Amino acid sequence: MGGTVADGVARGAAAQGRPWRNWAGNITFAAGELHRPDSSDALRALVAGSGRVRVLGSGHSFNTIAEPGADGVLLSLDALPAEAEVDTAARTVRVGGGVRYAELARRVHAHGLALPNMASLPHISVAGSVATGTHGSGVRNGSLASAVREVEIVTADGSTVVLARGDRRFGGAVTSLGALGVVTALTLDLEPAYEVEQHVFTELPLDGLDFESVAGAAYSVSLFTDWGAPGFRQVWLKRRTDQPLAGFPWAAPATEALHPVPGMPAVHCTEQSGVPGPWHERLPHFRAEFTPSSGEELQSEYLLPRSAADGMLYAIDGIRESVARVLQTCEVRTVAADEQWLSPAFGRDTVAVHFTWVADPAAVLPVVREVEAVLEPFSPRPHWGKVFGIPAAEVRGRYPRIAEFAALVRELDPAGKFTNAFVRDVLGS
Ligand SMILES: Cc1cc2nc3c(=O)[nH]c(=O)nc-3n(C[C@H](O)[C@H](O)[C@H](O)COP(=O)(O)OP(=O)(O)OC[C@H]3O[C@@H](n4cnc5c(N)ncnc54)[C@H](O)[C@@H]3O)c2cc1C
Repeated sequence: MGGTVADGVARGAAAQGRPWRNWAGNITFAAGELHRPDSSDALRALVAGSGRVRVLGSGHSFNTIAEPGADGVLLSLDALPAEAEVDTAARTVRVGGGVRYAELARRVHAHGLALPNMASLPHISVAGSVATGTHGSGVRNGSLASAVREVEIVTADGSTVVLARGDRRFGGAVTSLGALGVVTALTLDLEPAYEVEQHVFTELPLDGLDFESVAGAAYSVSLFTDWGAPGFRQVWLKRRTDQPLAGFPWAAPATEALHPVPGMPAVHCTEQSGVPGPWHERLPHFRAEFTPSSGEELQSEYLLPRSAADGMLYAIDGIRESVARVLQTCEVRTVAADEQWLSPAFGRDTVAVHFTWVADPAAVLPVVREVEAVLEPFSPRPHWGKVFGIPAAEVRGRYPRIAEFAALVRELDPAGKFTNAFVRDVLGS
């Protein structure tokens, strides 16, 4: 699990202290200081005594969402004890604010329990992931925030607020962009452990694609393409073995294990070829024990109503030559509607189109704008943790409950200690 920003932050802090960068290295955070408190008392005192604070999770976002600003404090929770307390009777887990999914999944599985879903990478922190609306795939699977039932937040004066499902404020509490305070613990719903088999198919044509049937063909489905031609190079089906086996007549089974980026060795990918295995070793695309890539990439992603899937795919196909020039891989997934006010899947069953770009901002940004222009008719909501250029006012207009979120920020953090430039932009404040 080496090579992530938290490791870099730790090394940097021990050495000269800066620069502090995200995992991809495309952002150097403007920050006055980095702190890594090792107890909750130290954390509270630090928060209460600081002017502006932003937490850095595992640093896997590609924009300035975590940046506190030149006079602010960047706070890493990686020196706190990595709590993950499982309550087997209640089927819940209480996880600390700095813990990553790989560690959480291992501890939960040891109790015969499971999370409902995971993102492609298990190395990301739980608090940072749900803060940005991070998701896996599945027509019936909500974003990762949907599993959260309670959030514990250290607010500006160092005191603790707990917001649980049922609280009128809960809709703003989980996918909060880090704007409410320091999330020190989350309680997540669990279910009995299950097994998953991963089946990969190749060459699914765009012409005649029945998106609903393809996306619903397994518990979690991902479509990959490099847009070198219309259609998909790969389809990954993650089937729960406790659910029926549906046929997949639209493409041919892969004859070897594949990496989503053409030409990359599949050794870092989770087991394919239909071999059943524990949920946490199949739902992510990449193995927990390997660093899946060096960070030599940029990412963008847009979440649209699922009913727009066909229109979206043809719109991107129309500019596929531009896209293909700067693309490593494009992934299409689905996310069930959820109820977090700032979740990009809020209130609508969603199709998510993701781009892993080459690590060249000057070449990539014009293509990001081109993609945004063709997606505009479908009212895309950009992933909060990735590269996007849609003006904040337009993004804001796509979140019907954003005024309630802004009110919640004012209620919990009246002086704006946890509000940075990114959040100010989003809220228009
Ligand atoms: C290789 C790779 C694969 C990815 N795969 C997926 C995927 O499958 N699906 C998907 O949707 N996204 C994916 N992402 C995006 C990623 O999930 C998000 O960027 C996510 O926010 C990363 O979590 P993090 O801990 O690194 O967050 P960071 O980038 O560190 O922080 C994100 C936000 O959360 C806040 N935050 C973090 N921890 C706390 C805390 N304890 N209290 C308060 N605020 C906090 C930060 O202040 C910031 O605002 C991927 C990214 C990479 C690099």
